[in-house]
Amino acid sequence: MIDPFGRSISYLRVSVTDRCDLRCVYCMSEDMTFLPKKDLLTLEELDRMCSAFIGLGVKKLRITGGEPLVRKNVMSLFNSLSRHLVSGDLQELTLTTNGTQLAQYAAPLKAAGVARINVSLDSLDAARFKAITRWGNHAEVMNGIAAAKDAHLKVKINTVALRGVNDDEFDDMLAWTGANGFDLVFIETMPMGETGTDRTEQYLPLSMVRAKLARRWTLKDISDNTGGPARYTRCIETGGRVGFITPMTHNFCESCNRVRLTCTGQLYMCLGQDDVADLRAPLRASESDERLIAAIHNAIARKPKGHDFIIDRRHNKPSVNRHMSVTGG
Ligand code: SAM
Ligand code: SF4
Repeated sequence: MIDPFGRSISYLRVSVTDRCDLRCVYCMSEDMTFLPKKDLLTLEELDRMCSAFIGLGVKKLRITGGEPLVRKNVMSLFNSLSRHLVSGDLQELTLTTNGTQLAQYAAPLKAAGVARINVSLDSLDAARFKAITRWGNHAEVMNGIAAAKDAHLKVKINTVALRGVNDDEFDDMLAWTGANGFDLVFIETMPMGETGTDRTEQYLPLSMVRAKLARRWTLKDISDNTGGPARYTRCIETGGRVGFITPMTHNFCESCNRVRLTCTGQLYMCLGQDDVADLRAPLRASESDERLIAAIHNAIARKPKGHDFIIDRRHNKPSVNRHMSVTGG
């Protein structure tokens, strides 16, 4: 699949639920209204959707949410999708999780062919973690991360950089991830959905994070590309990789290779734009995939050039109204 700007689309992110057991301040408001369960694609339908995309050339599949591991019976989806890894049609099956359920799921995920996972963790301090996630239990997540390590899953820690919230512990995060053999990726906060908190106050450009880290660590630019938008460095002191995702300060749209499917079968061609293609109707219209495939091609032909996220005092409103948990991070 090639979009109008010549970009090859080989990466599909699938949000399997918009629900979550946490309420991170930059992601959700405390009183979220979730979709009625009857609107969700079944796990069998999600498998059919993913398989159609794989048939069209998708090589990398990321399961996300909301919190993907709170979707009932989600392992049956991983287990069935793993056939595409075995056949070689799919190169990577992975997920992004908040880690609360990893103690239980790490080993089965590994058995299903998942090789590496992203775990979101914004603080090493239990009280602060609770404040950021509103509902989270830090020990539970740390146990989950330890279980992932024990199961030999490669772990990448995603940390949203929040001014005045966690910006005094990035050195500690780097030391901790380095000691455990994890990658660490910092993310700029994006203006998606109302959360009840002020993003102008929280927003921290990663150029400042990197400059501060460079006082203590030697970060060498490397050309590693994991298929996502992060730019990587190697920390000479720990040997670990440290990445930066900078949607706000350095737009990475020119190399965008991905599209995002929601749990109700809506395809977003760009995280930062509202255009959406309904794939549920063509999926349900017939048992054959012909209509679905035609709808996917139509959607890819509409993929926009890029997003226009802005955070400043004049634009103190979300750029898009939906929350990150709808389209998945
Ligand atoms: N619940 C899972 C988790 O937290 O890893 C998966 C879904 S979550 C929406 C995916 C990623 O998006 C997380 O790393 C989270 O920190 C990030 N995220 C959520 N809202 C964001 C925002 N407004 N700006 C930047 N990153 C955000
Ligand atoms: Fe849930 Fe992930 Fe959003 Fe936090 S970032 S509220 S864990 S979906």
